[in-house]
Amino acid sequence: MPELRQNFFSKEWVIIATERAKRPEELATHRPAQAIPAFLETCVFCPGNESKTPPEVLRVPGGPGESWGVRVIPNKFAALSSEVQPTRNLQHLRRRIDGFGFHEVIVDSPDHSRCMALLSDAQVASILGVYRQRYNALSVDRRVNHITIFKNHGADAGASLQHPHSQLIATPVIPSQVRHRLHEALRHYDDVGECMFCHMVEREVEDQTRIVIKGEHFVAMEVFAAATPFATYVFPLRHMASFGEITDVEIVDLARVLRTLLAKVYVGLENPDLNYTIRSGPTEYSGARHFHWYVSVIPRLTRVAGFELGSGMFINTVLPEAAAEFLRKVSVDKTLGAGAGK
Ligand SMILES: [Zn+2]
Ligand SMILES: [Zn+2]
Repeated sequence: MPELRQNFFSKEWVIIATERAKRPEELATHRPAQAIPAFLETCVFCPGNESKTPPEVLRVPGGPGESWGVRVIPNKFAALSSEVQPTRNLQHLRRRIDGFGFHEVIVDSPDHSRCMALLSDAQVASILGVYRQRYNALSVDRRVNHITIFKNHGADAGASLQHPHSQLIATPVIPSQVRHRLHEALRHYDDVGECMFCHMVEREVEDQTRIVIKGEHFVAMEVFAAATPFATYVFPLRHMASFGEITDVEIVDLARVLRTLLAKVYVGLENPDLNYTIRSGPTEYSGARHFHWYVSVIPRLTRVAGFELGSGMFINTVLPEAAAEFLRKVSVDKTLGAGAGK
């Protein structure tokens, strides 16, 4: 029987179309592995080409023989500009703000060929540490109201450059999707007196059916009302409203859980395009009791079509419980050092 499920905080309904159900492995890309060089002379993110990018914002030293570990640079084709002021104006119903913001690129490693699934846990921890540093640095700017940290992996996920990188966009407004999430969280807290995310995570950990990996401080789980196949959330087990609150010890655990999850997706689904996003409350939410940050990982295995555009409702053909079981079984011991990135 098909089933409708509601996302616990967005309140969006999803159709889990079991009649059309696909076994998880049927969604694998079946794309032949590409041979990608570890270094490409023409790539602006590869070592030796540092002068071809805008001046660096931050650099983490690399290991022996590496010129650097992680680099942060302003996006050359930035969506927003830190040179303008976020002046607001309203004319009739037309509201505008001058295009202030920050748009940065985080180059994940000097290696052109290794996507995050193929990096070491230590390198991923280093990248996450850079995320936190930039998040906290930009958050103190009073003109910034929201920061999104995300990754586009593969052309279908919006990546225009092959060298693995992440991005950060700081905006002068809180996007309405985020505002909605914050409102729902506050409403639940006011009604019930607890963080709805903590409650949900506790129940999911007890239930086990949708859990993919549980670390000491983080848990990765398939989303109960997943809008798309293999939509996965990674939650901190400790209540934390803002990503900026993450400790060094927690970063190490998140690196292991996130990297393992990405490796399972890489191996099990044969390197699909994907996006991940850190969904955090604003920095001033540090200590807030009603909101809880998390990472969403969304493999791009299906296309958004007319029904989704017209209704905002999604049809998912893979049972989240089956997706979780599938990912739990994927062994990733051999991934590290395989070198076949994208
Ligand atoms: Zn490169
Ligand atoms: Zn919580």
